[in-house]
Amino acid sequence: MQLVFATNNLNKLKEVQSLMPQHIKLLGLKDIGCIEDIPETQNTIKDNAIQKANFVKEHYGYDCFADDTGLEVEVLNGAPGVYSARYAGKQRNDDDNMDKLLQELEKKPNRSAQFKTIIALHIHNELHTFTGICKGEITKTKKGAKGFGYDPIFQPKGYTKTFAELSLEEKNRIGHRGKAVRLLVQSLNSK
Ligand code: IMP
Repeated sequence: MQLVFATNNLNKLKEVQSLMPQHIKLLGLKDIGCIEDIPETQNTIKDNAIQKANFVKEHYGYDCFADDTGLEVEVLNGAPGVYSARYAGKQRNDDDNMDKLLQELEKKPNRSAQFKTIIALHIHNELHTFTGICKGEITKTKKGAKGFGYDPIFQPKGYTKTFAELSLEEKNRIGHRGKAVRLLVQSLNSK
């Protein structure tokens, strides 16, 4: 079975492919000739995921799934949330985003946060969504070189290492995207 994963992020593609059963081969956007920027203009993580999945189905005709992720910080009332990618500006730079967050939390004792991933699956003309959450806290400095995005400053609950210090397998086992992908796989297996 072939299924399109609507992402250009090779890190995400790698993470998700490693969780897929062998009989499901993922195609990236390039594989279907989609090189345009897919709009992500909604105000919630869920609606952005649905918008991306619908776009691929409507414009390219493939069954597909898309994910959208946000980092929700308790003391910031859930920010940056749906705006995580452009938290520090349009340049969408990971280091700038992390620096801004570390600065915002400088004098705040509560550093609780969670990653939330929502996957929207468009298959057989039906739409399904799957949610994965990983709770943890924002560290005071960046640590580790693995992963991507906010990984160097996110320490999952019960761990003394950040996501950027954990292996891909460990991050997938406890992480937000891994949890959402396992629900996706369960649903695909039941079809
Ligand atoms: P999106 O899911 O590509 O829209 O990601 C939104 C923002 O969250 C971007 O800044 C990503 O770098 C960041 N992000 C998404 N997933 C992860 C993750 O697993 N770890 C760290 N940052 C992430």
